Amino acid sequence: MYQDLNQLWYNLQKSPFRRKFRLNSKDSLYLQQKGLHILLIHANEFINKRLASAYPVNDGKQTPMRGHPVFVAQHATATCCRSCLAKWHHIAKGQPLSEQEKTYIIRVIKMWLLNHYSSLLSTTSKNNV
Ligand SMILES: [Zn+2]
Repeated sequence: MYQDLNQLWYNLQKSPFRRKFRLNSKDSLYLQQKGLHILLIHANEFINKRLASAYPVNDGKQTPMRGHPVFVAQHATATCCRSCLAKWHHIAKGQPLSEQEKTYIIRVIKMWLLNHYSSLLSTTSKNNV
């Protein structure tokens, strides 16, 4: 796990695959309507259901590429499957996620959503001028 999420952000931005992810208009609207707090509750459910066990079902394919802003955030931050968590975040495969690791993943997803949410808000306000 990264101690410094700025360092993680910096590394993610160096990956052409990770940095290309954006919220589409439907995701953005959903985020605006539900709010970040509700989305992070969903993130917590996805993590518990799809990532937390030692050997998650369909590991590597358990996170859809679209359909929920959190899915997009997971691919963008390499928190989508246990291989990506191992490779990018040094969270070992083959054992259940600890509470600490789950909290860390939520923080990473929150960072990405906040970043994209604020750039979204600034775009909206620019359009209103
Ligand atoms: Zn993955």
